[in-house]
Amino acid sequence: MTQDQAILVVGGAGYIGSHTVRQLVANGKKVVVLDNLVYGHPEAIVDDEVTFIQGDLGDRPLLDKLFTEHNIGAVMHFAAYAYVGESVTEPSKYYQNNLAAPIILLDAMRDHGVEIFIFSSTCATYGNPQYVPIDENHPQNPINPYGASKLMLERVLADFSHAYGLKYAALRYFNASGCSLDGQIGEDHNPETHLIPLVLEAAAGTREHITIFGTDYPTPDGSCIRDYIHVNDLARAHILAIDKLSEGAESFQCNLGTGIGVSVKELIAAAERVTGKEIPVVIGERREGDPPELVAAPAKAKELLGWEAEYKDLDMILKTAWAWTDGPKKGHYS
Ligand code: UDP
Repeated sequence: MTQDQAILVVGGAGYIGSHTVRQLVANGKKVVVLDNLVYGHPEAIVDDEVTFIQGDLGDRPLLDKLFTEHNIGAVMHFAAYAYVGESVTEPSKYYQNNLAAPIILLDAMRDHGVEIFIFSSTCATYGNPQYVPIDENHPQNPINPYGASKLMLERVLADFSHAYGLKYAALRYFNASGCSLDGQIGEDHNPETHLIPLVLEAAAGTREHITIFGTDYPTPDGSCIRDYIHVNDLARAHILAIDKLSEGAESFQCNLGTGIGVSVKELIAAAERVTGKEIPVVIGERREGDPPELVAAPAKAKELLGWEAEYKDLDMILKTAWAWTDGPKKGHYS
C-alpha cells in the first residue's frame, strides 16, 4: 500500500481494534473503521480524524460502497466472536461470523484490488499443546468451534494467497491484556469472562471474588499458566506486519506472545501488589477446555518483524489495566 491510502480496521471499536486504531493514527496513518457495534463501543474511537462506518463485515453492498468511496490499501480484521463456551453451544453463529462473513470481505477486497490483509488469529488454533513453548510449527488441532473457525479462515487465506495473490499475515495472539497507558480506553466485554478484568473488578469491589478455575493442574502451583501480551504490543505488531507486506514480503503466520508463562495464582498475587487491595479468592472446578499451559515461542515474530514484547513485566501490564478499571470503566462505557 502507499502512504496516501487508508487502512480499513474491521472491528475497530472493540478491545484490540480500538488500541490499534489509536496507534495507527499516532503513526500518521489514515484510518477507516467498520464495526457493527454488537460488541464494540463507539466511545473507544477517540481520534476525530478516524472515519467510522457502522455495519457488518459480511454486507457486500456496504463493502462495495466503502471500497469505492475510500482509497483503502490494507485491511485489518478484528471483528470475530470470541467466547469459547458460546462457540460450543452456538457453532453456527461462530462459523457465520468468523468464517463466512470474512470470505465476503475477502472477495470484496479482491474485486476492489486491495491485496493486504492482517488477520487476528489465535493460539486456540493449536488446541491442547503437545509441547511448550508453542512455536508456529506446532500441529494445529483446535478443540472448540472458536479455534476451528480461526484455523479454517487461516486456510482460506492460504488458498486465496496462492490463487489470487492475496498478501496476508495471520497473527496468532496469546492472551491479550492491559489497556492504553492513559487509561482512556480499555477492555470492556459484556459479558466479561477474562481473568485480568475479573481479578481487577474483584480488587475494585465491583465483583465479590475471583474464582480460580482449578488448582490441580500439572503446573508448579496447580493453576493454569498463560502468556499475557499487552494490547499495545499486539497493535504494534499489526502495523509492522502491514509495513512488511507492503515492502513485498511473502504472506506469513506468527505467534504474538511474550514467551513468559504466568499462573492464575501468580497473576492474582501481582494484582494485589499493584492495586494495594486484598482480592477475595474462591477455588473452583476446572473450566472445560482449558489446557494447563499456553506459552508462545515468540522468535519468529522477532525474526520476521523485528518485533518483541515491550511489556514483559506483569505488574506494568496490570497497572495499565488497573488505571482503566479504577477509572473510566466505572462510568464511561456500559
Ligand atoms: N480463569 C480463572 N477464573 C476466571 C477466568 C479465567 O481461573 O474467572 C483462568 C482460566 O482458567 C485460564 C486463565 O484464567 O487458565 C485465562 O483465562 P481467560 O479466560 O482470561 O483467557 P483464555 O486463556 O481462556 O483465552
